[in-house]
Amino acid sequence: MASSVLSSPALTFELVARCSTTRARAANLTLPHGAVQLPMFMPVATQASLKGITPQQLEETGCRLCLNNTYHLGLKPGQQVLDAVGGAHKLQGWNHNILTDSGGFQMVSLLKLAEITEQGVRFLSPHDGSPMLLTPEHSISLQNTIGSDIIMQLDDVLVTTSPDTDRMRQAMERSVRWLDRCIAAHRNPDSQNLFCIIQGGLDLDMRRECVKEMLARDTPGIAIGGLSGGEAKADYCRVVETCTALLPDLKPRYVMGIGYPEDLVVSVALGADMFDCVWPTRTARFGNAVTKQGVLNLRNRKYANDFGPIEPGCGCMCCRTGEGGMGITRAFVNHNVSKETVAAHLLTIHNVWYQLNLMREVRQSIIEERFPAYIRDFFRGLYASKTEYPDWAVEALRAVGVDLMSG
Ligand SMILES: [Zn+2]
Repeated sequence: MASSVLSSPALTFELVARCSTTRARAANLTLPHGAVQLPMFMPVATQASLKGITPQQLEETGCRLCLNNTYHLGLKPGQQVLDAVGGAHKLQGWNHNILTDSGGFQMVSLLKLAEITEQGVRFLSPHDGSPMLLTPEHSISLQNTIGSDIIMQLDDVLVTTSPDTDRMRQAMERSVRWLDRCIAAHRNPDSQNLFCIIQGGLDLDMRRECVKEMLARDTPGIAIGGLSGGEAKADYCRVVETCTALLPDLKPRYVMGIGYPEDLVVSVALGADMFDCVWPTRTARFGNAVTKQGVLNLRNRKYANDFGPIEPGCGCMCCRTGEGGMGITRAFVNHNVSKETVAAHLLTIHNVWYQLNLMREVRQSIIEERFPAYIRDFFRGLYASKTEYPDWAVEALRAVGVDLMSG
């Protein structure tokens, strides 16, 4: 392979392998708090903790890069406390990497009264109702204080299904202008990596235009944003495929807000490397275990007498029976699920491990040049018959050379 390494001040990207059929890649990404392997899933630790599990337990899942929400950290403990303690790594006792979002999406999605202007996102404080303004400069200042290894630009996010083309164009162009303001405001380019976010809704030409503008700013990593907002999966795939086709080989590509196992596998085939989503941890709190056979709701009475592990063969500390394993049974989770938070904690650990392991298996299959076969096995595990395979996945994979329906 020709040149396969690209370094910027706080990040090194090394392309390890490329699938010869699909657009999938395996890479090593070295960040200020250590190396991580791509493709990867990043669990979301909303309030600097992954609801119910400790940093040690998160580390045990193999996680070396998790997500924190700037909006939540900025409100509480707030910038002064973060400054005093020396950032989010120290606050949560986490010596591995952290990625923070800009805070903008959280505001727009959580606060009904948020209003976006050229200056920034205006909203009313959820604490005392006072008017506040999140600007690109303020978002970067907060993220600089948090000290996260990857920081995200403030972008103007519009749901992809919005029919308002003019507003979509305004949001895309504004996101480019806000990236310039973020770059100018960024105090720590030698220790924190600012990623741009490609916008443009479902309009492929607008996405292409945005890619061109964003690439000209030469950020160390690139995100594809605004997706996972209720658009059809086929549209989602078209956007990802269109963007990855134009992106440089030697930079990480992060698709924001994606977490269903099928979406991850298909998105890797389309050339994406990094993903995050609250779904695996949120669904754990409803008694759901993510497995190779799909999602199991362990609240179901049929598990009351099931003394098998949450998922047979799973290597997570809950399912494992050997040294360091807890040998948790489905019956135990079922027994506790509506009474004790312990069941949610156990399922959170299992689900996070599942997601990280899925990406580890995908990576290994790319390196060993058997990713198409892995995809077939993965879908065979999820569905009883090929007739149940979702059309969008079949179509998207066919477009990158994998025909799920043949063979
Ligand atoms: Zn498990």
